Amino acid sequence: MNERDSDAVAAMLRGKGYSIVESELDADVVLLNTCSVRDQAEQKAIGKAGHLTKRKRKNPNFILGVMGCMAQNRGNDLLDRLPDLDLIVGTQKFHRVPDHLDHMIATLQGQGPRPDTIVDLEAEDGSQNTIKSHDADKQQVSAFVSIMQGCNMKCSYCIVPKTRGAERARPMDEIVAEIEALAANGTREVTLLGQIVNQYAVREFPFVDKKSPFVQLLERVHAIEGIERIRFTSPHPVGFKDDLIECYARLPKLCEYLHFPMQSGSNRILKAMRRPYTIEKFREIIAKIRAVRPDVYISTDVIVGFPGETDADFELTRHAFDEIGFDMAYLFKYSVRPDTTAEPLGDPIPKAVKEARNQVLLDILGRHSLARNEALIDTVEEVLFEGPAKRGEGMFMGRTRGHRKVIVKATPRLVGQLVPARITEATASTLMGELVLEGMESEQD
Ligand code: SF4
Repeated sequence: MNERDSDAVAAMLRGKGYSIVESELDADVVLLNTCSVRDQAEQKAIGKAGHLTKRKRKNPNFILGVMGCMAQNRGNDLLDRLPDLDLIVGTQKFHRVPDHLDHMIATLQGQGPRPDTIVDLEAEDGSQNTIKSHDADKQQVSAFVSIMQGCNMKCSYCIVPKTRGAERARPMDEIVAEIEALAANGTREVTLLGQIVNQYAVREFPFVDKKSPFVQLLERVHAIEGIERIRFTSPHPVGFKDDLIECYARLPKLCEYLHFPMQSGSNRILKAMRRPYTIEKFREIIAKIRAVRPDVYISTDVIVGFPGETDADFELTRHAFDEIGFDMAYLFKYSVRPDTTAEPLGDPIPKAVKEARNQVLLDILGRHSLARNEALIDTVEEVLFEGPAKRGEGMFMGRTRGHRKVIVKATPRLVGQLVPARITEATASTLMGELVLEGMESEQD
């Protein structure tokens, strides 16, 4: 979501005549888009911003801004740590960045006194509709599309409802128009983004034929010519009903990949986290999806070391994690976030215990992921090529429908194409492959 917000701001700035440079060393303006989900992310951003402010000594016209969740969370208090910041822009004000910059640059060019820090953090009606710009000059084979903002849940560890505000959906027609324009510009894959994506517009749009607004949106995106793959992130077990599960059976463009946050395998901890489902319900949804798409790849989020998590609770998480057999996972060691309902509980689980629990899950994940990748050796996978691989001349990176990264010797012509590749080698994180289409091999010579 942050990546999408950053790209939208970059596109808005390009539209106003700014150019995006490759290196921050060449930039006259640096904007840091920040995350608050863990304390570590905030400390990293503060450190980075502190380092960047030193550039003002050499270049008094250098402009530094902080935007996004940390700006929203810390607001004016950020100036205590970073008094030289020029801009502090909250999550509902990304679209105001170009105007704020214009104003600041005009003042600096007018040789007037350095303007005060602009702090823009108010909630704004309709701000969810402003994250829609894409850089028309940049071909995006795979694009993120923000369909909503905010969250109405109250998970006890989570700062997102504070930083992103209440759930607000974009109109379906506008989302469809945005994706049609992306498809016309070469995009083949879209990932629909929302804090709880399956809750999309449940208050704004009616259910039709027992289909939720999110399922209706999936159907409309599926009908867009040129779009070959659809993904979404992140859904919540609440509201993950049969109408959505059936989409995996009847919408072939919907990839067999699902990111589905579990958070814990212990019902006691799920309750303490204020996650309104049981591990049994979570498993039941996965079983239903696997019944209609047996080859689905599933990733998840897990927090270890939530206050009060006993060895027995963790054992339930370990067991569920192993038994479900996730193909990918984001594993988090709990950290206290301000103004959450879990804040008063403190952070009683020792760091070493959290590290050990994290490592147990990492080992399981590595085992499952490697086994799943090795099973693909000698099979042919459809790969969507995204661009040159980081290493290896003539090597290109693409992804399978299951979101596995594949490296193949190919040609630039194949970027943006769906091409069959035979998998030849596998590690836990990456597949190596070779083109199998007749004629493709000769073209790469
Ligand atoms: S569902 Fe829970 S974890 Fe996800 S954004 Fe909302 S409050 Fe945070």
